Amino acid sequence: MSPSDSNDQSPPAYKSRLRELHPSTRAILAGYASKFSERSVKPPLFRTSTFEFSSAEEGRQFFQRAYHLPDDDGKDPGLIYSRLNNPNVEIWEDKMVAIENGAAFAAAFPSGMSAISTTLLALLPVGARILYTDPVYGGTYFFLEHFGERFGYSAHAVDTSDLSAVESALDNSPQPYDMVYLETPSNPSMTITDIQAIVQLVRARNGAKTLIAVDNTFLGPVFQHPFLQGADLVFYSATKFLGGHSDLIAGIVLAGEGRGKDLIGAIRDFRTILGGTLAADTAWMLTRSLETCWLRMERQAEKATKVATALTQHPKVERVLFPGLLTENDGPSYATYKKQCTGPGSMITFYLKDAGFEEAARFLDAVKICHLAVSLGGTESLIEHPRTMTHSDMSEDDLDRCKITNSMIRLSVGLESSKDLVRDLFDALDQI
Ligand code: PLP
Repeated sequence: MSPSDSNDQSPPAYKSRLRELHPSTRAILAGYASKFSERSVKPPLFRTSTFEFSSAEEGRQFFQRAYHLPDDDGKDPGLIYSRLNNPNVEIWEDKMVAIENGAAFAAAFPSGMSAISTTLLALLPVGARILYTDPVYGGTYFFLEHFGERFGYSAHAVDTSDLSAVESALDNSPQPYDMVYLETPSNPSMTITDIQAIVQLVRARNGAKTLIAVDNTFLGPVFQHPFLQGADLVFYSATKFLGGHSDLIAGIVLAGEGRGKDLIGAIRDFRTILGGTLAADTAWMLTRSLETCWLRMERQAEKATKVATALTQHPKVERVLFPGLLTENDGPSYATYKKQCTGPGSMITFYLKDAGFEEAARFLDAVKICHLAVSLGGTESLIEHPRTMTHSDMSEDDLDRCKITNSMIRLSVGLESSKDLVRDLFDALDQI
């Protein structure tokens, strides 16, 4: 929350990122001080569209700052109107900055796609070139591939887990890329990109000119820290592990120190005018969910490890893609995983043996404990068919190239007993 009188330029104590503490402790302590809200231990819900100015001069001054008008003195604009900001949104943004190692600024959005699309529109010049991980989440693919002509950018897919392919894409580009957009592990193929190596390749060629963005949705702030690898921007679909209960839609973009202030400033300006604002109620729920993020993600990863291991034993399963199953035989992916990730997460992709859509559908229809639904990261297990669901907006050629076949299944492991989950999956596999 911003106290309305901000003559002092230094941030108030509750904005401290508490970096000396473990992030799970920061998630609980940072971003809110009870003394501003009747000593309420938990933040109240500020369900208001607008905020009263203490004087006409204050209102004038706040707008000068918010709209960067000639009298903008660079200070926090203060609370004006909930499309610009709201205490609950700020509390969640401040907590996210506190828990994401290396983050300094954040902008919250009403969905992950809203965070991604608004950021790209705000930061990329007309004529921009984007190099992106092949494959990415289907909605991101659609935005990159189908809106470029309308908005003046072109996007080029490359398997970013293959450093030589990235190198040759960078070297053969007619002009330097404006952004390298990474998703790791990729959805749904679980390929692992070495963020630090890509940062080095890009910086060696284009210096800081190329922005490096990472969608960190799959491993979350618990298991992967892209800013520590040199990323400029980190995205989350907060609908997933950050919300964690499949009961809300939200997103966020974070930026690091230095130019991060200007990047988030430009993104916020677009957010204000495009109008993609997170509701106070949703921000309140996200603030609550963040407190259990470590607990949930660590436990879900343990359960997923058991489920993934069991799946490798079933004769109807051809192949299981799960970071925790990688070994030295998997080449550079294993080394990258060991260097970059502190845990496997709880997303599993697997291929059914000798299966087309009919067999996959029979399996999915037979599963009882896992919900047959898209999305991921909730307390309940979710199972889906990427080729005909989350990634159905990709072209057939792109689906085939990325091996998103009819036999591919994506599973998000929740908090149910892993024994129950394995029994349920095996019963369903037996029915193919
Ligand atoms: N990024 C990834 C990796 C996703 O899986 C998704 C959604 O499934 C998104 C972004 C988009 O997020 P949202 O659905 O919150 O807009």
